[in-house]
Formats: sequence, C-alpha cells, structure tokens
Amino acid sequence: MNNQAPRALYIHIPFCSHICTYCDFYKMRAKESVKHEYISTLIQELHLKKSFYDAIETIYIGGGTPSSIPMEHLKRLFDAILKEIDPSKLIEWTIEANPQDITEEFARFIQDYGINRVSLGVQSFQEKRLKVLGRTHTRLDVLHAIKILHQVGIKNVNADLIYGLPGDTIKLIKQDLIQIINMGFTHVSPYTLIIEPKTMLYLAQEENTFLPLPDEEEATIYRFIQRFLNSYGLYQYEISNFCIKGYESLHNQVYWKNDHYIGLGASASYYIDQIRYTNIKNLRLYTEGVKIGKLKYEEKAELTQEEEMQNEMMLGLRTIRGISLQEFEAKYGKALLDVYPVVNRLIHDKQLILKRGYIAIPTNRLYVSNTIILNFM
Ligand code: SF4
Repeated sequence: MNNQAPRALYIHIPFCSHICTYCDFYKMRAKESVKHEYISTLIQELHLKKSFYDAIETIYIGGGTPSSIPMEHLKRLFDAILKEIDPSKLIEWTIEANPQDITEEFARFIQDYGINRVSLGVQSFQEKRLKVLGRTHTRLDVLHAIKILHQVGIKNVNADLIYGLPGDTIKLIKQDLIQIINMGFTHVSPYTLIIEPKTMLYLAQEENTFLPLPDEEEATIYRFIQRFLNSYGLYQYEISNFCIKGYESLHNQVYWKNDHYIGLGASASYYIDQIRYTNIKNLRLYTEGVKIGKLKYEEKAELTQEEEMQNEMMLGLRTIRGISLQEFEAKYGKALLDVYPVVNRLIHDKQLILKRGYIAIPTNRLYVSNTIILNFM
C-alpha cells in the first residue's frame, strides 16, 4: 500500500501569449484581469490543501507558460507558497519559461524566491522547424535566456526539444543537439512530435498538408539522439530525459516512482491516498469550485491495488534504473515476479533486463517501450 505524504507539488498556469500548432495542453490566451483572478484562485486552492505540504521537497510550476504571467502576480503566488511550504525542505523548484520571457529582471526575481531550475520551451534552434511548430522565438533568444540564467546563478536548465517533423534527418537534429551542448544546458528532454486531436497540426494532417515522419525514420533519429547525447556526457535516465549526472529532475522522479504528489490549478492532476484526481479543465467551473471550497474534477478515480501496481510498472519502466524488486514488495506486500510472471519471458526475450535487483527495459529497446509495457496492462 502506497501511503506516503506527497513530496512534490505541481502548479498549472494555463496561459500562453501564443498558441503552438502541436499543443494539446490546457492553455489559452487571456487578458490580464483573467490572469489576476486565476492567481487569486490558485492561492485559495493552495490554502485549501494546506494539510498536504509537510513533506514537500519539489515544486514544479508548469503550463501553459508560467513566465507569461506578470511578475506582480507571480509574486503574490510565490509569497503564498512560501507561507505554506517550509523553504528549508525544498530541494528543487522549477518553472517553465518561454525563452523570450527571460529578462535579467525576471531571472533575478525567480532566483530571489529560491527557484533553482528552469525548463525552457526551446523545441528547436532552426527557424524553419520553429515556424512549423508555431514557436515565435529564435536561436538568439535561447542563447540570451541561458546566458542570463547562468549569470544570476541558475545553472540547472532544461531544454525541451521536438523531433519527428516532416523532413527531419539526423543531420538536422544533430544541429539542435550541438547547440544544446554548446550553450551549457544541463538537462534535455527530446520529445517525438505527437499529433494530438484538436491541434492545428491535426487539422493540417486531416487535410493532407502535413505528413509526420514515418515511424522507422523517427526511431533512427531517437537512437541517434541516445548515442549522441551519451557521448557528450548527457546520460539517459528516462525515455525522453537526459542530463549531466546530478541534474536529474527530482520532481519528475516522484511521478515515475508512482509516489504521491499534489496538484493545483485548472486541469492539474494529482495522486493522494490511492486516488487520482484531475481538476476540471474549465476556468469558470474551476474558479466556482475553489470559491465554495468544493473542487470540481475532470476525473476522480480510486485505484485498486492492481491498478496501482500497473501504474508502478508503466511509470517505472520508463526509467533506465527501472523498478526495484525489493521496493515493489515493500510497497505492495507482494513479490513483483509473483504478480507478473510474464517478466521471466520478457527477460528471456531480451525485452527486459534484471540487474542488481532492478528490472528495466534495455536502452536499445526503449523506442518500443510502449509495446513492452502493454504486457503489464
Ligand atoms: S506548447 Fe507550451 S507555449 Fe506552446 S501553446 Fe502549448 S503550453 Fe503554450
């Protein structure tokens, strides 16, 4: 039974100054008055959940684009956070940002509050590729942003990258990876482009004006990324995450360990006491619920032990370290190999490895991890 107090807090800011062609997150463009009211509601929700913060070690402010919120409103939110959460226990505090929003003033402001990790929505450094994705920044904006962050002492900086656009080749992706290394990013998350329903790229695909890269070419690029980043000292620790040793995202590791975490904001998900919640994805209903102290949910599901164990497998097998047999048994009171005898066959077929008490997907099979994980569903 998974009964620990949440160690991670996620806060969702659903505003962006520009909508990207591939994005299916809960986000919108909004007037300043809407942002002002949203932050006030978030602060109310933060207070409503005050009994959950004793063990919080990581905070992740994501979106949307949190850096698109005026600093005076972020200040209200950060002050409220620091009233509820003991800063001496915080190990990692991340904010997602658009490269164009990183000014010296913004960087000093977040650093003063103790934010020690920034995740930049880079996606690419190439004008043509950025245009397809609907991103408005340039390579120089990213260079400027990371220089400023380094100057104020924030060294832990992630770059999100996207590959799998039509016409992508190893040569093109290599150019982006070289920029990542030269600019001194400590962490990189390369994601394959997924065409989600209700996005602009989805419509373009329906009209046959946008054809994503075939799977085999995408797989070749993925394997190249693995080799290239590893050879430059950015080691892989999860399917889509690479970093210099010591710069792993502690927050995301809470998710991959299937541990409890808290979430705040419209559309935010969280997992406490065996219940998975997703807050309602509607600003008006979200606000109404918080105001009367009765949150409204998009989803609320109490998990059976079997479902919890499935999630443990699905999330843990994303990581290179894998799942500890000992920790699994301590958590669920059952031996992993008894619950999932299929593991023996998968080890025999080289789809899983068993090493020092951990089972994991070998790195050369990570591209087909979804198929392997299906064995546990
Ligand atoms: S990808 Fe990020 S910046 Fe672009 S619309 Fe989505 S949330 Fe906003």
